[in-house]
Amino acid sequence: MTDLQKWLPRGVDAINAWQDAYGAFDQHPSLVVSDEALGKAFNELTERLRDNYPFGHPRYVGQMLKPPHPAAILGYTTAMLINPNNHALDGGPATAQMEKEIVARIATMFGFEQHLGHLTSSGTIANLEALWAARESHPGKRIAYSADAHYTHSRMCQVIGVEGVAIATDDSGRMDLGALERALASGTIGTVVATLGTTGLGALDPLPAIIALTRAHGARVHVDTAYGGFFALIADDSADGVASTPFAAIRDVDSIVVDPHKHGLQPYGCGAVIFSDPGVGRFYVHDSPYTYFSSDELHLGEISLECSRAGAAAAALWLTLEVIPLTDAGLGQVLRASRRGALEWQRLLGSSDDMTAYQSPELDIITYYPTRGRMTEIDAASNALFHAAADGHPAEQIHLATYTVKGSDLARRGHEVEHDAPTARIMRSTVMKPESEAYVPAIHARLSELSRP
Ligand SMILES: *Cc1c(COP(=O)(O)O)cnc(C)c1O
Repeated sequence: MTDLQKWLPRGVDAINAWQDAYGAFDQHPSLVVSDEALGKAFNELTERLRDNYPFGHPRYVGQMLKPPHPAAILGYTTAMLINPNNHALDGGPATAQMEKEIVARIATMFGFEQHLGHLTSSGTIANLEALWAARESHPGKRIAYSADAHYTHSRMCQVIGVEGVAIATDDSGRMDLGALERALASGTIGTVVATLGTTGLGALDPLPAIIALTRAHGARVHVDTAYGGFFALIADDSADGVASTPFAAIRDVDSIVVDPHKHGLQPYGCGAVIFSDPGVGRFYVHDSPYTYFSSDELHLGEISLECSRAGAAAAALWLTLEVIPLTDAGLGQVLRASRRGALEWQRLLGSSDDMTAYQSPELDIITYYPTRGRMTEIDAASNALFHAAADGHPAEQIHLATYTVKGSDLARRGHEVEHDAPTARIMRSTVMKPESEAYVPAIHARLSELSRP
């Protein structure tokens, strides 16, 4: 954190200097607080914040969580001292411009030749917008997504009053093409949502075939790559890359969602939705008596369902991408390290007597369980491992997550275990931090030891 100790005061100085030019003024007495009062409350805050998991540590390999890059913190904090609102150019001209620039870079990363898009406060809201645009362009039709798609799709279908259809997955957790084809044959589906990087397993739906089938039925394709999107930078089939085919097909879809607050090194409050046809802007048309007076240029609020949004989020992402760009040599190196960590872990699982891999990872999420003969035993051993690994001295703890699977999920993947319960918890680890790569052998060894009956 040395970086921040040096740079954060520079952000404060720069904004103060800019504001001073408008003339000094005193803070209103109602806003003045004593150092003593602030210090006391602040001590309590930092004390209470200790009730957390060490998301930034390489031995935290549980959920999709990690602190932002220092550049993102610097960009966010500096811009937040002004607190621009990216709803309209009146609210934050500089950060709205930054948002347009970075959204264009993300669109280029996915191969879109033209686009319309913006940042959102989350992947959930970004998907809501994409599904809403889907409903507007294919009214009265249903929206299909895989059974392993993020639950937000079924929920948002309810919100927008569209019937959602869950399509079965195959033995790798990908959308089953036969099931999709049967659903499309009904003629009632207007949009298919493909997930590149399912939240549970990191599975990649077979996008080229999904596009072909869906187009043949006159329907629309939305890609939810909230988690996996930035892996497009390393989608080259190389030893530490990911599969090229699904990512290369993104250029042909209608809309895409990606979360810079997942693999884009950003703090929460940063999703993105991008449409390949700028014409979807017509769905958003509205007039506002309060805003949009400072220029005839497109205001982000004119193409967004959300109104107020942090300009600081755009500043954070902009600054981050200036120093860690959307290239293989930039953010790609972060993702390659995560990918190598997952592959190494998978290799170790493959030769382990104590642990069994559930399936192969397509990104940086691995799933495994303490080797046992019955589902009830797997469930109990996984739960025990989850707790045992997180116990003990902080400098030794390993933080994991669990994932619930059905007996049929295990059977389809060739796991010969007794189905004495409908479901079992297994382990799920997201190797999201590049630093975790070096810890994988030690983590695996420790988990193996803890798993022995
Ligand atoms: C995380 C995620 C979401 C939800 O995004 P939030 O930013 O958490 O709201 C949607 N879809 C997928 C595939 C995700 O991984």
